Amino acid sequence: MTAILLDGRALAARIEGSLRNEVDTFTTMFRRPPRLVVVLAGDLAASGSYVKSKAAAAARVGIDSEVIRVPATSTTEELVALVAAIAREEHGVADGILVQLPLPEHVDTVAVLDAVPPDRDVDGFHPENAGLLSQGRPRFVPCTAAGVQRMLIDAGIETAGRHAVIVGRSDIVGKPLALLLASRGTGGDATVTICHSRSANLAAITRQADILVAAVGRPRLVTADMVKPGAAVIDVGINRITGPDGSGKLVGDVDFEAVREVAGSISPVPGGVGPLTVAMLLANTLLAAELRAGRR
Ligand code: NAD
Repeated sequence: MTAILLDGRALAARIEGSLRNEVDTFTTMFRRPPRLVVVLAGDLAASGSYVKSKAAAAARVGIDSEVIRVPATSTTEELVALVAAIAREEHGVADGILVQLPLPEHVDTVAVLDAVPPDRDVDGFHPENAGLLSQGRPRFVPCTAAGVQRMLIDAGIETAGRHAVIVGRSDIVGKPLALLLASRGTGGDATVTICHSRSANLAAITRQADILVAAVGRPRLVTADMVKPGAAVIDVGINRITGPDGSGKLVGDVDFEAVREVAGSISPVPGGVGPLTVAMLLANTLLAAELRAGRR
């Protein structure tokens, strides 16, 4: 059996298509487009390319965006002050504010993220938004978790009553995804297990999964013997490795070629969860603009 491929690029393009219409409506009604302001500290190549693809996607749907670049030597205080200035709209309208992670090592990331006002927090990392999600009344849901749930719903993969195993417990991906899949309603009602670096007998747990999500950041962590035949396997991981010919290559956390022979469906890397993360960011930015405008 070869697994069905969960094509995140195609789904993201469809989501962008409907967002474009909603953004048009907003822009006509309020005589300005929704606007996203991104803070990029330092010059990590991966962060630069993520920010570029977010800005390009925003432009495709008619969302205005600006990237504010600051040096890697910026202090926590400087970054907190910058976010506060953006929130005061000293850098133009800021419906959504996003701080690209990771921040330089010496910076207190939590302090900077907490400076983003919760009603502009399009990444959904502010404790208020995390709290709302945990109470089952989500406002801004972290984009990757929302993208994974959307992928499952779109592919018609039943979650209700199924066992979802998530490998990875980060605040950005694993934890919010666990809350979403365990919440009531479409794309939820699953029985959720969270595994992490201290989990014993990982393979014994992942083999029980109807839906297996890998969000770790380790190439080939999930091998074919860890997957129940027919399971849906969602690969969130993004790892840059050097191929045998010395060229750079992007891979996920799943041993794709072997696992696709066992799984019922599988998301590739690249072209799986990544494009959906960006699409969900656009949706959150429109939501932020609508909330501020009193449209929701
Ligand atoms: P993180 O480093 O914050 O968390 C990794 C998690 O993996 C931790 O909870 C840790 O306990 C767990 N872990 C580590 N080693 C393990 C092991 N051997 N067995 C089981 N669990 C283990 O990372 P993150 O921010 O959650 O990101 C995870 C991966 O997803 C990274 O590769 C990242 O690049 C990628 N990512 C992708 C997208 C996307 O849009 N596709 C978005 C965010 C993150």
